[in-house]
Amino acid sequence: MASPLDILRSVFGFDDFIGLQRPIIDTVMAGGDCLVLMPTGGGKSLCYQIPSMLRSGVGVCVSPLIALMQDQVQGLTQMGVRAACLNSSLDPQDAREVEQRLVNGQLDLVYVAPERLCRPEFLDLLARCDPCLFAIDEAHCVSQWGHDFRPEYMQLAVIAERFPGVPRLALTATADEPTRRDIIRHLGLERAEVFATGFDRPNIRYEVQPKDHPQRQLLAFIRERHSGDSGIVYRLSRKKVEQTAVFLENNGITALPYHAGLSKEERHRNQERFMRGEGMVMVATVAFGMGVDKPNVRFVCHLEPPKSLEAYHQETGRAGRDGLPASAWLCFGLQDIAILRSMIESGEADLSRKRVEHAKLGALFAFLETAGCRRQVLLGHFGEHTAPCGNCDTCLSPVKTWDGTVAAQKALSNIYRTGQRFGAAYLAEVLVGKESERSRRFRHTELSTWGIGGELTLGQWKSVYRQLAAAGLLSVDMERHGALTLNERSWSVLRGESPVRLRTDPVVAVRAAKTRRP
Ligand code: ADP
Ligand code: ZN
Repeated sequence: MASPLDILRSVFGFDDFIGLQRPIIDTVMAGGDCLVLMPTGGGKSLCYQIPSMLRSGVGVCVSPLIALMQDQVQGLTQMGVRAACLNSSLDPQDAREVEQRLVNGQLDLVYVAPERLCRPEFLDLLARCDPCLFAIDEAHCVSQWGHDFRPEYMQLAVIAERFPGVPRLALTATADEPTRRDIIRHLGLERAEVFATGFDRPNIRYEVQPKDHPQRQLLAFIRERHSGDSGIVYRLSRKKVEQTAVFLENNGITALPYHAGLSKEERHRNQERFMRGEGMVMVATVAFGMGVDKPNVRFVCHLEPPKSLEAYHQETGRAGRDGLPASAWLCFGLQDIAILRSMIESGEADLSRKRVEHAKLGALFAFLETAGCRRQVLLGHFGEHTAPCGNCDTCLSPVKTWDGTVAAQKALSNIYRTGQRFGAAYLAEVLVGKESERSRRFRHTELSTWGIGGELTLGQWKSVYRQLAAAGLLSVDMERHGALTLNERSWSVLRGESPVRLRTDPVVAVRAAKTRRP
């Protein structure tokens, strides 16, 4: 009997398996279930195509995208694989023909749309033709947390009930924890082996800076590290996109804006220029990026953090497609934490969905504030494990951490004493005892927390507040101009129940970049 490697070579014309294809195929061949997490282009299809050809009986692949199904079948047929698809685009005559081939055992692999698979008469038909595996492609569609929820995917639970002994593979590129749990629950994959791989982009160097003067920091970064290179700069709002594009232009860097507020023609024109040009910077909202495949994008910068590590991975993944060294650079401050949190709060989602969104944001903040290897945190989020990478800021210049419990207590009680109505910059002034008109007016010079923080600088206290906010140990009230307030977890720190570990921020030299005024 042919082996998986024989098929890989003789039918598909590849020399060897890539990533985890081999162990996944071995697991399915042995009758086991798999949850496969690989980015798009990672080579998921072979994981069910080869076992379908080797195991007796027909492999059934559920796919939500008709066009994709047809491409797959066409490609397979050309290679001599007995494959077909069943979906709403087929006329009844052709559909009957495919069903006939199924029953006659003349197919290795059939692609089916989810709604058709779940019809009782189709399930009965399948029961007569000995399915050898079920592959559920785009399995994240089963999760209401995903970006692509499809109610008909929920009904796929019927597969595990009707065909309990037949191996099931769920495949997806969307890999966060809540989605993963939903896939396992709805598709009955409690005993599945989980395979996650291919999310690493080793040529991308990850760097994060505390935000000070973001545009000047950006300019310094481009001038020092990527002068003359093409790159993408992401900003949260249209207005900021426009501002930053003008700022870069004024400082001698060709920059194009891109956001949903521009006319279709303008967006198209800017995208074209970026794709063709050299040494151009696209300043954009997240509206930019879908299908952008420019191989020599040397850097992706975020002047505000995205909403999740998935988004960050996807957006930074547009750098260095050619495999040459590239940078992912981000700067953020307490304001950003507050804005992202309040965007969730003021959103339409129901309570449980908001909780998930907060958790996703928390995972992102943990990445931004880590003192360990950033790649380890990023890949760990996708279930992949790796040694410290040597190609991120924290690996290249290790970050010191310190026991920040006492500092945190000072910072938090300062919030309390001043009435939970001030922002981090002013609170830091109270801690170091920096007098101003405001502190005299509010008589804060008489408070017990006045000047109790002389051991740290203003900047360091701001960093403490930012880190506490990122860790959720205090709240930021956006309705009241970013006033810091205490929450339940703050009290646990104040009572000495939760120790706090903090990191020392890198020193950001923005003065290195002289900005030109127009
Ligand atoms: P996914 O479904 O994960 O997006 P595909 O299965 O479509 O990815 O594969 C992506 C590309 O990788 C395809 O062009 C495929 O031919 C190629 N590929 C898959 N496996 C191998 C392999 N073992 N060796 C070389 N190329 C491969
Ligand atoms: Zn690292």
